[in-house]
Amino acid sequence: MLQQTQVSRIAERFPRFLRRFPSLKSLASASLDEVLAEWEGLGYYRRAKLLHQTARAVVAEHRGRMPEDPEDLRRLPGIGRYTAGAIASLAFGRRTSLVDGNVARVILRLGGIEHAIDSPQASRHCWSFADRLVEVAEDPARLNEGLMELGATVCTPTSPACNRCPLRTGCVARAEERQDLLPRPKTRAARRVVVHHAVLLRDARGRVWLEQRAEKGLWAGMWQCPTIEGGGPLDEVTVATRLGLAGTPLWIAEEFVHQTTHRAVRFRVMTAGVVESMPRRSGRWFTATATRGLAMGVPQRRTLAIGGVVSPFPAARAAGTSRAAARGTRSARAGSRRGS
Ligand code: SF4
Repeated sequence: MLQQTQVSRIAERFPRFLRRFPSLKSLASASLDEVLAEWEGLGYYRRAKLLHQTARAVVAEHRGRMPEDPEDLRRLPGIGRYTAGAIASLAFGRRTSLVDGNVARVILRLGGIEHAIDSPQASRHCWSFADRLVEVAEDPARLNEGLMELGATVCTPTSPACNRCPLRTGCVARAEERQDLLPRPKTRAARRVVVHHAVLLRDARGRVWLEQRAEKGLWAGMWQCPTIEGGGPLDEVTVATRLGLAGTPLWIAEEFVHQTTHRAVRFRVMTAGVVESMPRRSGRWFTATATRGLAMGVPQRRTLAIGGVVSPFPAARAAGTSRAAARGTRSARAGSRRGS
């Protein structure tokens, strides 16, 4: 849970997750939907899927006990070199190194290394340095915890507290007063902008039509309104036709932008009047109450709120009048400005 997520966000959710899945066995025997529902709102849903797969692999291949050997650990889904080193050294006292972002910063500053923090050269340097340290450490777990803690609390990204750092006498960055310049930052690619047209459809009983996303990719396996993805903005007629709903009037309810690690996803939320029958699409009608138990991403949940599934659906929008359409378009522009 803590990968790329702040401790404060996890403080409540982790105990709740453990109450729901108190053992590897209970996690392994749960369905993916149940695990994703418990993970809702934390983002990076791939972590939940991999955690679930790992629990199943540990139960099936290791009789329900986490393996201690770093090589065995790395064969489990989602466990890379850092996590294997952390589990092996911290949980089992194995002589194994680890390098996370905090440790890398300490090592690169110590040596006055110029490579960008995400470069292969920096990675090679940090792992080889950490390997040599752990070989001679009295207690590998304490060494690893100490390095991570030093990076998190003393050798911080900005304004490192060098005066109280136990490594200050041997630190090249400090000697050359380059602490603020090192390590060199990541070379970030610009975020790609993509457009998702999400369409909120309701039947005469007020239920909403939802479909499940593909098992791979963004928001894998989560539920959503029918969505046309990619390309640029499309008009309402084109979206309706692509969904197999040609002739059904749609109008824009709102727009917003959702940022992911690599993309800025512009959601254009459209809605319709009451839909009498759905074309052949794999999905189901859900009552508002039933949607609460579904695994959904944050923007998909927001789409439902915009459509009034969570709070009462505004009567003017449900009527589908041209005035409502005009208001929707104005709202879309405002939403676009808010989101960008
Ligand atoms: S002396 Fe300063 S820059 Fe060097 S490792 Fe310690 S805190 Fe980091």
